[in-house]
Amino acid sequence: MVHLRFVLFLLGTSVTNLAEDTLVDGTYDYDLAVIGGGSGGLACAKEAVNQGARVAVLDYVTPSPQGTKWGLGGTCVNVGCIPKKLMHQAALLGEAIHEAVAYGWEVPSADQIKINWSALTESVQNHIKSVNWVTRVDLREKKIEYINGLGSFKDPHTLIATMKNGSKKELTAKNVVIAVGGRPHYPDIPGAKEYCISSDDIFSLSHPPGKTLVVGAGYIGLECAGFLNSLGYSATVLVRSVPLRGFDQQMATMITNEMEEKGVKFFNRCIPVSVEKLESGQLKARWLNTETKEQGEDVFDTVLLATGRYALTEQLNLAAAGVSVLSDSGKVVASTEQTNVPHIFAVGDVLEGRPELTPVAIHAGRLLARRMFAGGSQQMDYENVATTVFTPLEYGCVGLSEETATERYGADNLEVYHAFYKPTEFFIPQRNIRNCYLKAVALREAPQRVLGLHFVGPVAGEVIQGFAAAVKCGLTMEQLSNTVGIHPTVAEEFTRLNITKRSGKDPNPASCCS
Ligand code: FAD
Ligand code: NAP
Repeated sequence: MVHLRFVLFLLGTSVTNLAEDTLVDGTYDYDLAVIGGGSGGLACAKEAVNQGARVAVLDYVTPSPQGTKWGLGGTCVNVGCIPKKLMHQAALLGEAIHEAVAYGWEVPSADQIKINWSALTESVQNHIKSVNWVTRVDLREKKIEYINGLGSFKDPHTLIATMKNGSKKELTAKNVVIAVGGRPHYPDIPGAKEYCISSDDIFSLSHPPGKTLVVGAGYIGLECAGFLNSLGYSATVLVRSVPLRGFDQQMATMITNEMEEKGVKFFNRCIPVSVEKLESGQLKARWLNTETKEQGEDVFDTVLLATGRYALTEQLNLAAAGVSVLSDSGKVVASTEQTNVPHIFAVGDVLEGRPELTPVAIHAGRLLARRMFAGGSQQMDYENVATTVFTPLEYGCVGLSEETATERYGADNLEVYHAFYKPTEFFIPQRNIRNCYLKAVALREAPQRVLGLHFVGPVAGEVIQGFAAAVKCGLTMEQLSNTVGIHPTVAEEFTRLNITKRSGKDPNPASCCS
């Protein structure tokens, strides 16, 4: 082995720091096979090829119960972040058209401003198809073998790809990365799979969604209800426990208040009971209030299920590979992405207890490839990952919620700085600013290390991204207040925070508040 390492060194080839077993030796068809061509799998495959590995990627999309299917690239590109952000943008533009009048733009009368759903979905789907195409070309140019087949294990080093026509292809690989992601969960109620749609279907829906019931108040439920309402479709949300459970609840309330003020209806503590198709083609949904035990029902054009996602591990035949680290929910438990079988790894949404976010999957996939093929040693740091909920008024955050910080450090050891603010853009026309709010959760003791930053307002994702780097570097309140702001922006509000919750002072800006 020493000899082999020396030869590889002379050839300029990097040597892995993982188990000797993972060294590239040519005995297998590939040095790496990746099951799942989404955010994590593709990032890992591309980085592995950059490091000189021979790589195959298996990607296969099983149609949704409503028959929706899509191309290469995974959830984010096809039925996730990208179409969602485009529909969010469509919704914001609709609001902006009305506001433009106050700036002197002459636009058609308000009742003439309406969305053309098929034009919207066509533009969104055309963009997605172009990304699918570019991704395929990229794989070809990088000489990554793309196999459009459903992957499963035959043994620890052999995969079977089942193609669309039912034929099977076998391949062997020294290392395997499981990056199969997840798919929407369907509650076990009558009518769910027959009549309801999920995020897999909404972005390419062939007809306007009309009056919509959204079941679930997580990221997807709130984002979809938000853009549907702003596009002019009535949206009602069934909330089982609380909106955005696990997030800072003060901030979650701000965004649901804002949505309510814009017309979204929320039924709290309600779970779906059944969905039935009427002769008219409309859907009658029934639900139960788990507190009052009262039943509710209404008729909708669309019922969108957004009740979480399950990992696609069942079809992998993991037992044949000896992988035995599945959680109760079927996710892979692997703190350093390595499973109990040393040459089999997992990245992305399929991992238990990790943020289900595209940049997380990408970063973990790249680092893993460097550890496998370039002698890297850096592990993925899942702490302080910033995120944004793209509701009409966005919510961005990084670090701990006030609740988690209180649990970990105790309220006496924390200082929470907060403020309401008025974005300049909201002066003309006068817009609702009741929910433009931000806070910094910090340790009380000087220099007051920042544990969490939370921001509700326009472009929250852009605001939080920069501050996330500062938090990663150990940002303190002292440094934050010594940072000179950029005026007039909404991000500068973080540099102006000076009122603590403890002081009881009014956090409203002096010049406003309607
Ligand atoms: P995926 O991207 O899901 O890729 C897995 C791929 O593997 C899929 O193509 C799947 O079909 C394929 N596959 C599964 N099983 C097999 C098999 N046995 N053989 C072959 N192929 C298989 N994240 C953000 O960061 N920002 C956002 O704004 C955001 N918005 C989202 C909005 C929605 C509606 C949804 C659903 C998700 C959103 N996400 C967002 C989350 C993000 O899409 C995921 O975290 C990310 O796609 C996970 O990447 P992955 O590589 O783990 O899996
Ligand atoms: P989620 O955030 O886990 O939310 C699921 C929601 O459905 C919760 O409100 C949950 O209520 C509810 N629910 C679950 N089972 C239910 C049932 N049987 N009946 C009624 N309600 C039920 O899941 P998600 O919204 O599907 O999103 C999945 C992941 O995708 C997220 O974790 C996120 O990481 C990623 N994502 C990211 C973005 C972004 O970055 N902007 C956007 C979309 C998605 P309880 O709280 O009571 O359990």
